[in-house]
Amino acid sequence: MTVNPNVYCGECSYCLSGRLGLCENSKGFGSNFQGFFAEYAVADHRLVFSTEGLPKDVAVFSEPTSCAMHGLESLQMRPGGSALVLGAGPTGLLLAQAHRHRWRVVRDGRGAQRVQARHREAGSASTRSCRSPATTPRATCRSLREASPHGDGYDAVIEATGSTAVAAICVPLTRRGGTVLVYGVTRDEEVVEFHPYDVFRREITIKGSFAEMTSFAAAIDALRGGRVRTDGIVTHRYSLDEYGQALDDLRNDKTVHKAVIVP
Ligand SMILES: [Zn+2]
Repeated sequence: MTVNPNVYCGECSYCLSGRLGLCENSKGFGSNFQGFFAEYAVADHRLVFSTEGLPKDVAVFSEPTSCAMHGLESLQMRPGGSALVLGAGPTGLLLAQAHRHRWRVVRDGRGAQRVQARHREAGSASTRSCRSPATTPRATCRSLREASPHGDGYDAVIEATGSTAVAAICVPLTRRGGTVLVYGVTRDEEVVEFHPYDVFRREITIKGSFAEMTSFAAAIDALRGGRVRTDGIVTHRYSLDEYGQALDDLRNDKTVHKAVIVP
């Protein structure tokens, strides 16, 4: 079993218009709502999903995969479109795989300076890697744009790092009529600059993707069918007694990308 940790109220104007993800009273189990940091928890049956047949190591990705599915729903890509995912953390990797389009994932080392790109052709399981020689955000931007299918950027550019230095190159990397998806989490006081004339002239859309409310079933299907693969994403494992240590390591140890608690 797995539980969607995002709870909607069902009564606000957003919920009543069917936009559950925008609920103005939304809560998250274990973050701003009781539960999940305990031996037992109670959840509404509508939030509980069967993961029968899935190994636990795969089922544990139901929630991040459902966030990736929601990101894709938000993008509404045209068939044959290209996408660039900036950030090769767990959610960036899941999102890129859920994507059926041509995509490229960029791992951000220091700011936007050290870049490693993994590229997967549409519908193919093969991946290949390359390392950009670029040393500045501007040079990184230029080399990534040159590597795009038409040399003029990508139909969708997904910011999945939470770094403002990376977010700043998203609009320039988007091709005409394309979309920037803000998927990474920055601190709420941080600011990213862009040129409004460029957004106006090239008709760029800038969108956000927060929590999902309705994507769990699709995510579990994608994990069951192998469309989204999770091998190699878990980097660290902890026992239940080490829960506090796991949170500390996630905060302080840059080698911890995905920590799993194994009771
Ligand atoms: Zn609501």
